[in-house]
Amino acid sequence: KQYTMILRFLMVFLFSFTISKKNLPIPILRSSLADMAFNGHLTFEKNEHAAKDFGDIYHFMPSAVLYPKSVSDVSSTIKYIFEMGASSELTVAAGGHGHSLAGQAQAYQGVVINMGSLREPEMSFHAEEPPYVDVSAGELWVNILHESLKRGLAPKSWTDYLHLTVGGTLSNAGISGQAFRHGPQINNVYQLQVVTGKGDVVTCSEEQNTDLFYGVLGGLGQFGVITWARIALEPAPKMVKWIRVLYTDFSIFSKDQEHLICSEMSFDYIEGFVIINRTGLLNNWRSSFNAKDPLQASQFNSEGRILYCLEVAKYFDPGKSDLVNQIIDTLLSELNYIQCTLFLSEVSYVDFLDRVHVSEIKLREKGLWEVPHPWLNLLIPRSGIHEFAQEVFGNILADTSNGPVLIYPVNKSRWRNRTSMVTPDEDVFYLVAFLSSATPSSTGKDGLEHILTRNRRILRFCEASRLGVKQYLAHYSTQKEWKAHFGTQWEVFSQRKSTYDPLAILAPGQNIFQKAK
Ligand code: FAD
Repeated sequence: KQYTMILRFLMVFLFSFTISKKNLPIPILRSSLADMAFNGHLTFEKNEHAAKDFGDIYHFMPSAVLYPKSVSDVSSTIKYIFEMGASSELTVAAGGHGHSLAGQAQAYQGVVINMGSLREPEMSFHAEEPPYVDVSAGELWVNILHESLKRGLAPKSWTDYLHLTVGGTLSNAGISGQAFRHGPQINNVYQLQVVTGKGDVVTCSEEQNTDLFYGVLGGLGQFGVITWARIALEPAPKMVKWIRVLYTDFSIFSKDQEHLICSEMSFDYIEGFVIINRTGLLNNWRSSFNAKDPLQASQFNSEGRILYCLEVAKYFDPGKSDLVNQIIDTLLSELNYIQCTLFLSEVSYVDFLDRVHVSEIKLREKGLWEVPHPWLNLLIPRSGIHEFAQEVFGNILADTSNGPVLIYPVNKSRWRNRTSMVTPDEDVFYLVAFLSSATPSSTGKDGLEHILTRNRRILRFCEASRLGVKQYLAHYSTQKEWKAHFGTQWEVFSQRKSTYDPLAILAPGQNIFQKAK
């Protein structure tokens, strides 16, 4: 009888040892996480929002969402999961503002950290040269803008839309019309605090823990959770002259764009977009822009053609309007756009930077914001842009684009070259962004399947013509595809992963590394 009891005891002991160390069932993990003391809190129910993003195509339910109030909430959660070892299935994703396109900030049955609830440190400004601001990584860029402007300062490099978090854009790049001069947002950061995949809290910069610093910038959340960032500032302008002109010839359009990004004296913002088969285009512009020559502009017929719009802006302070007008006239005189299509607008710096939010409000009112967004963002070397434009704009898109198509060049010389961000191998490359919206449950040309098929066609063309194109905000399903994406940078990227997140706990939604089972 005694032997049977000992045997039973041994079996229970062995069984509990097995489940505590190997494949610990999710409910038990939930209860052990629930026992931990946090300054913030964890939720196990009603977490559907953490399984949704702007793309609205992939939805992976987490087991829990952590709302941290302190950096130690983040580090103790990750440390706890790290110390469980390779056999637990739990992963962790930092969630910014949910504007990913393909589940990149989601963690199936894992823990999503809601970075917006981390409010330490409070935003603090340093006005001495060079000026900077320390912000929590869950902070929205729009809030940083408003706070900086109270001190006459502003960050240098932006995204087109400001309701994104610092951690979210620094994990990618943060590219907009200022990047030709200042580089992307990952170029305009002095220091970061990061919680690694082992739960260590590390401060890093160009001088301190350099490898982690460069790794995290553009690192797709793979090496650590950014908890705060020191962001470069400059004196903020007050007003903006915002200009649009049209071209029918792609070569002339791109030549002008490249001329502007390489000139010493230029605009402060340079972008552009493709217009396919739009009727009443200039009429729409009239609500916010004024034609320089209204009579001539009214005679311009935009219908049934592919047009290219150069969009530029010059910042200025009130009282210097005449001077800036002279500079603009000089800059425009060097360009070859269709003269009657010159449209101008004058807006505050805030209204200019926050311009996409105005469209967001309108689209939300019409129920058109929360729809699937099968976006495709490409970085195309200058040498291939003409072949690309001819095939993609002239043939594959043919009659509709299902949303804006942005196109503008940037100088690689302005980009830090040791970050994890992958760019084409040429001095000048273009960002081409197909910002499509799909009509839910439509099976037609505006439906998700149709747009995804067209995206695949564009990618197949890029691959077949060996243009050296790289995806931005990429989504791949296999490591093989990621290796091809990183090319010669893969060695460094995977080495960094084994150093900072050896169990592959972080950012599983990127599908780059699998947590060992
Ligand atoms: P999330 O989508 O929540 O996260 C993105 C990735 O970063 C995930 O892998 C996540 O795990 C990781 N992550 C988030 N926070 C952290 C952190 N603190 N530490 C470590 N990893 C973290 N991009 C541009 O470059 N230029 C643009 O002009 C631009 N315009 C956009 C306009 C709109 C309307 C939208 C929806 C997106 C736009 N984007 C643009 C893309 C945008 O920069 C990325 O999708 C960005 O990741 C979104 O930020 P987020 O805060 O929502 O991050």
